[in-house]
Amino acid sequence: MAPQIKYTKLFIDNQWVDAVSGKTFDTYSPHDGSVIAKVAEGDEADINLAVAAAKRAFHRNSEWRLLDAAQRGAILYKFADLVQRDVEYLAELESYNNGAVLSFSKNITQSGVQSIRYLASLADKIQGDTIPLSGEVFSYTLKQPVGVCGLILPWNVPMLMFINKVVTALAAGCTVVVKPAEQTPLTALALAALLQEAGVPAGVVNIVNGFGVGAGTALTHHRDVAKISFTGSMEVGKLIQQAAGATNLKRVTLELGGKSPLIIMNDADLNIAIPYAAFGVFTHQGQICVAASRLYVQSDIYDKFVQGAVEFAKQRTVGNPNDPATQQGPQIDGEMMNKVLGYIEKGKKEGAKLMTGGKRIGNSGFYIEPTVFADVTDDMTIAKEEIFGPVQSILKFDTLEEVIDRANATNYGLSAGIFTTNLNTALQFSKHAEAGVVWVNTYLASGPQAVFGGFKDSGLGRENGLHCVDAYLEVKTVTINL
Ligand code: NAD
Repeated sequence: MAPQIKYTKLFIDNQWVDAVSGKTFDTYSPHDGSVIAKVAEGDEADINLAVAAAKRAFHRNSEWRLLDAAQRGAILYKFADLVQRDVEYLAELESYNNGAVLSFSKNITQSGVQSIRYLASLADKIQGDTIPLSGEVFSYTLKQPVGVCGLILPWNVPMLMFINKVVTALAAGCTVVVKPAEQTPLTALALAALLQEAGVPAGVVNIVNGFGVGAGTALTHHRDVAKISFTGSMEVGKLIQQAAGATNLKRVTLELGGKSPLIIMNDADLNIAIPYAAFGVFTHQGQICVAASRLYVQSDIYDKFVQGAVEFAKQRTVGNPNDPATQQGPQIDGEMMNKVLGYIEKGKKEGAKLMTGGKRIGNSGFYIEPTVFADVTDDMTIAKEEIFGPVQSILKFDTLEEVIDRANATNYGLSAGIFTTNLNTALQFSKHAEAGVVWVNTYLASGPQAVFGGFKDSGLGRENGLHCVDAYLEVKTVTINL
């Protein structure tokens, strides 16, 4: 049964309101392409109202700013309890709107609860330093919330992105305006209702659904927004940095795309490496920024590995995300499905060997067969561009030295992985991989404690980890002469 959709309006100043223009847009089910809700379509006028509310809520005498850090943390712990209470509903809503397999959404929502608790615990750990200068003169530092933050979300894991960004900003004492992706407007609204129930004062959290050019650009160009945190594509990330620089020099955190190399050495345990390699690229239909989309396999085990990878892909069950037997659901929409199918055609045309899959499944919804290409070379489009679909591209290599250079020969630098039983090989690769996250004999393992972010064009700044709140703080030095 479809989950009930309780909220479709904008959320500004703790009120559910229509867009100033009165406009709405349709949101769809990726399973069958049907319209599941009409959602208020925010634009510049609504962003202006939301930023004004967030600015009022940030005033030094506001209810929010007068809370102790521990009280802020307590509200966030309450939020975690409410997300835990509604975990089943939230996971169903997420899957209904973005096509994620239900078990995946349940895991993500449950790990979201863990993230909220971890981030809430950081609220009362914010502290500065005391610095002796000379004689009776000394400085101390104050860490203060940066101000109104614009948080722009992608559609692939919208709930976890909402939690990471909103809860970190609130732990720091900021106020926020959230712009969810136009494909997935629903779970952000459900979470906003829970934040209100947890006791977050009016104006601290505002949600303006709408399009990138419209609500998104209005937020990135607004002079009263002190910081933008964005997760999405590299192209839009670069536009956001330009917009931030062109207005009031906003602080910017960017979590962008990837083309992550996963290396399988001759000495790897293939019983582990083959399933992990598949898991790394097929999870959530390949729509994850850290997808293991370049799989480098050493020459002695290459044929055996390819055979195992193909068998693995063939066994995957694709279908309705709500069916417990399903391992792979639909792509987010027709546009993304066609983009992925276009990459598959390019792979064939440029000479990669299609081993299995490659086609759309059915003609309702946006399903693609798990696809494996062998004999891929570094110059092929499927080895260079982010596909964001269930396409495993297998490349052959001979030596560690060679594969390190080939793995690093990309503008992306989000993640990398290696399977080997040789400790020295693992350490050498981990040292030289140009990536913000490196996995050894595992893939995708993560948690709020582990710092996350990209090298090179994959991003700017970091999320998660003990110091993540710093990205939402300014440091002030006060110097005193006794
Ligand atoms: P996208 O960049 O198209 O859109 C992301 C968000 O930006 C949406 O909310 C969109 O409305 C908004 N937007 C679009 N144009 C804008 C503009 N000019 N100004 C302001 N906002 C604008 O990305 P997507 O298709 O939603 O997500 C897929 C991408 O996200 C992939 O490249 C993926 O790798 C990346 N991603 C990265 C991470 C990470 O943590 N590094 C995580 C998830 C997804």
